[in-house]
Amino acid sequence: MLDFLGDLKRTHMCGAVRPSDSGQKAVLMGWVNRRRDLGSIIFIDLRDRSGVTQVVFNREQNAVLHDKAEQLRNEYVIAVIGQVKKRDADTFNPNIATGEVELVAEELRILNVSKQLPFLPSDTVLPNEEMRLKYRYIDLRRDAMQFNIETRHKVSMAVRDYLASQGFYEIETPFMTRSTPEGARDYLVPSRVQPGSFYALPQSPQLFKQILMISGFDRYFQIVRCFRDEDLRADRQPEFTQIDLEMTYPQQESVWAVVEGFLTAAFGAMGHKIKTPFPRMDYDEAIRQFGIDKPDLRLPAFTDVRDCFTAEDLQELAIHPDLPVIAIRTPKVGELSRKERDDIKPMFVAKGGARVFEDFKRISNKFPAAAAKIAEKAGMAENDLIVLVVGSAQIAASSEHAHRKVTPQELAIYASAGLLRVALAQKYAERHGLFVKTGDLEKDFRFVWVTNFPMYEWDESERQWMAAHHPFTSPHEEDMPKLENGAQTVKDPKSALSEVRARAYDVVLNGTELGSGSIRIHRQDIQSKIFQSLGMTDEEARTRFGFFLEALEYGTPPHGGIALGLDRIVMILAGADSLREVIPFPKTARAVDLMVDAPTPVSEAQLKDLGIQIKKPVG
Ligand code: ASP
Repeated sequence: MLDFLGDLKRTHMCGAVRPSDSGQKAVLMGWVNRRRDLGSIIFIDLRDRSGVTQVVFNREQNAVLHDKAEQLRNEYVIAVIGQVKKRDADTFNPNIATGEVELVAEELRILNVSKQLPFLPSDTVLPNEEMRLKYRYIDLRRDAMQFNIETRHKVSMAVRDYLASQGFYEIETPFMTRSTPEGARDYLVPSRVQPGSFYALPQSPQLFKQILMISGFDRYFQIVRCFRDEDLRADRQPEFTQIDLEMTYPQQESVWAVVEGFLTAAFGAMGHKIKTPFPRMDYDEAIRQFGIDKPDLRLPAFTDVRDCFTAEDLQELAIHPDLPVIAIRTPKVGELSRKERDDIKPMFVAKGGARVFEDFKRISNKFPAAAAKIAEKAGMAENDLIVLVVGSAQIAASSEHAHRKVTPQELAIYASAGLLRVALAQKYAERHGLFVKTGDLEKDFRFVWVTNFPMYEWDESERQWMAAHHPFTSPHEEDMPKLENGAQTVKDPKSALSEVRARAYDVVLNGTELGSGSIRIHRQDIQSKIFQSLGMTDEEARTRFGFFLEALEYGTPPHGGIALGLDRIVMILAGADSLREVIPFPKTARAVDLMVDAPTPVSEAQLKDLGIQIKKPVG
């Protein structure tokens, strides 16, 4: 028989009872986390979101109550009225905040029972993830998940408070809208009243936030759900949350300062102090020094050690003399076994004509003079590993794209070296203590702004220029004339468009892109020109973005903004190792919600209403 709650009121949270409460009456409510039955004494660990208090039922003191407590099982929901008592010193539990007290029960109300559970929130060994996702409500009761979701709350609140303090308004934008241009597939919602027409769920509020600037709100933000129907890679979610903002009359630095401000607040909320302003790095520089546009600054940059070799050395080693010779230094790896050295080569993903010398040691035996110079130039210390990535002698150091600071051949070497640098760091992570779980407070947070991205990327399969960020990003003012030239030769990979720099920026933390944004185009003539350069006819542009092109014509102020992934930031701050750990109800890699079992087929009647017929896949 279950008891009613009646007019009973909770006096303390289970994690909040302290020795100073001794002698007081307390009413606690929560779940039976653990029950230890010692015959005449039953101990219950009573749990709520704040923690656990030990409750004692003593047969000698109250046999009826003790009998009732015998019915309790894991995850029953109970209310206990009792007296707080300081424990004897030898029974203190230093592992919990309430470890010096217990509640001596005087009355027990069993508010609800629980079936035998598929797993227990108190289990130390986790069941497989499928089980956790199916019974997410049980999984979420676990301490670790409670901590992750609390972290998420604290981070969101810190960001909100900070942005509000800087004059940003939180403004909602629609979920049922038309296709937005972030380059992924849209999730579509059929319209019943207009059969055959669809809303799209927003990939981002991009155009709405720009229109809010045209509407005079000056500073907008939103912690907003975005939807992208992509083939899910390991750690992606079809719906994810962005900290999205936009402001008028900004320089890039104004946006950066706002981001640095809210990240300081968010990291601060979790006890981390971060250093601002973040360093800044040109895209070209990032490629040349790290081979990637999201550099992990915890590891040393590349060193070009071409000049450490003589011309004869290079010839003998079949290394291209006019291309960079990249030394990757991975600190504190220690002595590698022969097998470990052999394992490095298969980690190498060669781009273009890049090659790898898997082991500096082997080179040093034959070319001691060069090796000594390399060690010095790359700042090699004891226990560091050096691996060289070079251009094959066969490839030509062509002058194609010579106007860009990095040629395609150089890019191939940098990019291959960049991947290997990260792979080596990960492989030896434990040895040099790098990628330790974020739970550690000494975590080394190395932020960087990467800027001056190219405006366009050439898509060889489409034979088409694509916007590297999105087509609303402003080119640098001094690169505008190249647009004129570029627009004439749209289909040419060597057109002047390759030189146009975007006023776009990414904020990167320890090799992970946290967010990206840009100063936008605020003039209709330039926006139209950009659409043209992307191979869009005026008519196409009008069909897809007519409303926006028109809005630009009614007094649009200069504006810019950014969006950062909230899920990823929370994941880092909670020390979690997957986005699914910080999203209360995530989807699997196949975009399925295992708890509610979505997506599902719908009834014929619903389809009929929508004027939709399902064509069964053939075969
Ligand atoms: N809308 C962009 C994105 O979601 C961010 C921005 O440009 O503000 O990546």
